[in-house]
Amino acid sequence: MQDKRIIEERRIYKMKQKEIKKLNNKGITLIALVITIIVLLILAGVSIAMLTGENGILTQAQRAKEQTSVAEEKELIALAYNAAVTKKQSTDVEAKDLNDEFEASDVNAEASGNIIVYFKDTQRYYTVENGVVEGPTTEKPETALTLVAMFENGETCDKKDGTCTDETHLHIGDYVNYNPGTSGSYTSTGANTGMEQNGSGFPDEIKNQVFKVDNSTTWRVLGTEGEGSNKHILLVSGSPIKKETTSNDPYYYLYSAWGYKNAETELNNICAIYGKGKGAESARSLTAEDINKICGVTVVSETEIKPDGVSEDSSYGQTHSYTNQFANEDDFIAGTRSDFTKTSDAYYYSGDNSALVTATNKRLYDMIFYLSGNEQYKKEYWLASRGVGTVSGYCIFDVGAVFEGAAGPEGYYLFASDGNEDLRSYAVRPVVSLESNVSIDTIQKIEDQQEEDWSIYERTPI
Ligand SMILES: [Zn+2]
Repeated sequence: MQDKRIIEERRIYKMKQKEIKKLNNKGITLIALVITIIVLLILAGVSIAMLTGENGILTQAQRAKEQTSVAEEKELIALAYNAAVTKKQSTDVEAKDLNDEFEASDVNAEASGNIIVYFKDTQRYYTVENGVVEGPTTEKPETALTLVAMFENGETCDKKDGTCTDETHLHIGDYVNYNPGTSGSYTSTGANTGMEQNGSGFPDEIKNQVFKVDNSTTWRVLGTEGEGSNKHILLVSGSPIKKETTSNDPYYYLYSAWGYKNAETELNNICAIYGKGKGAESARSLTAEDINKICGVTVVSETEIKPDGVSEDSSYGQTHSYTNQFANEDDFIAGTRSDFTKTSDAYYYSGDNSALVTATNKRLYDMIFYLSGNEQYKKEYWLASRGVGTVSGYCIFDVGAVFEGAAGPEGYYLFASDGNEDLRSYAVRPVVSLESNVSIDTIQKIEDQQEEDWSIYERTPI
């Protein structure tokens, strides 16, 4: 009986034990699950943090991609710049040079101004200065004020006489620090100037007249040329430039029909040596038209110049007939005479003529006409403009000049239709055309300069 009870108790005990074990198993599984989930969550969190966020793998990959792209773009700019330097043999690289290289290499970028490069695909901007590429920015960088914009600012200014202190203004007569460099020379040969035909034993420096760039030349604003995006600033040398000389004679000599024939080309060729400085497009000689423009003189027609009364040459617009004379420079040189008629297109006017409203600005007046102090008559200069004056009996063939306070295509004649010849010497005065987009980063306005006194110079006795 007792055994039976014991057996029964054991059976119950075992059953309970099993139940307890069962219960225990269940508890462990739940906890494990909860822990597993927590661990997984922690791992997931760490992974997401590693992927995203400021230093996440995805962000870093994106950043690396962008850095590579920026580096590539900078490299493309540097390559274009170096190619342009090689091509130009100069570090004077401008926007248009980079654009030529971009086009040649199929780079979808555009250079502008002084100098900004824009990559159209990525919409990034870079600046290039002396070959150093900076950037990128997503906004177009502020470009420096162009000289054209400054000149336009100055047009409405009431202090055009040199007293304006507004740094954003540029006026006719203002000095700038244009540097034409030191290279470049031009020899105007005796065959072109007529000095070979004169044959009266001139020194060689007058027969073959050599001009070299003098970078102590000062530069002043003459005005503008062109319209819209082609509008550009013209500079004129503060004083005329000088011929190479061993005898204090800086003047340029022209003689007879040969000098008349080649005057414009030779004067422009001499002046062209000054057109190679940074920011410049070209250079040429000053002309009668340049002076007409800033003095407000207009040649309206073959018979009329505005304002009225400007022409001081009574023959302007008049026609005369001539018999058995030289009709032009080629006939003179060939010795061919004929009968012909000629209408005068020669004129000149005084700088202090009250009709020239704009020339009442003394600064501008001095710049062009040089009637100050003992410099008078020493800085007379040629204009690359010709005129034919007609009087009864003969006509005269003139190369223009600024002399004795007057300007025009009527200077003194170099030859006349009746066979007279003359020799003249004046100085040469270049005009530099700047590129349209030249900014104050390249050429700055500077204070007024002291011009050289030419009283020491003398023409060679001939
Ligand atoms: Zn001003």
